[in-house]
Amino acid sequence: MSDCVFCKIASGEIPATIVHDDDDVVAFRDLNPQAPVHVLIIPRRHVASLNEATEDHRDLLGRLLLVAKDLAAKEEVDDGYRLINNCGAPAGQSVFHIHVHLLGGRAMGWPPG
Ligand code: 5GP
Ligand code: ZN
Repeated sequence: MSDCVFCKIASGEIPATIVHDDDDVVAFRDLNPQAPVHVLIIPRRHVASLNEATEDHRDLLGRLLLVAKDLAAKEEVDDGYRLINNCGAPAGQSVFHIHVHLLGGRAMGWPPG
């Protein structure tokens, strides 16, 4: 997707602080962090949101969670962290390239707003 900011980060066209990079998944620090650790985990392949995901994306979706788990350990927040997927504008999705937020390093309230 030529006009997608996260595709541009994945391709290196837009700079970001990359914390994980493999053939399928890229992770980078959020520009506007909401916790001491705030990382976004995305597939290289453009998928607009979870609503567009199909059985074809099953392995990729699993990889996002496993990378998130590994990053939580690497960032030393694996004693307690939160993974979030905002799906759709009413839920707070602002970038329409599927991503998982990894938030950690502070206590989290419940329920989320
Ligand atoms: P959403 O609101 O779609 O769930 O999350 C999008 C996230 O992307 C937001 O937390 C926002 O701060 C982050 N973001 C938006 N544009 C950029 C960017 O160009 N670089 C980085 N690193 N993060 C971005
Ligand atoms: Zn994209």
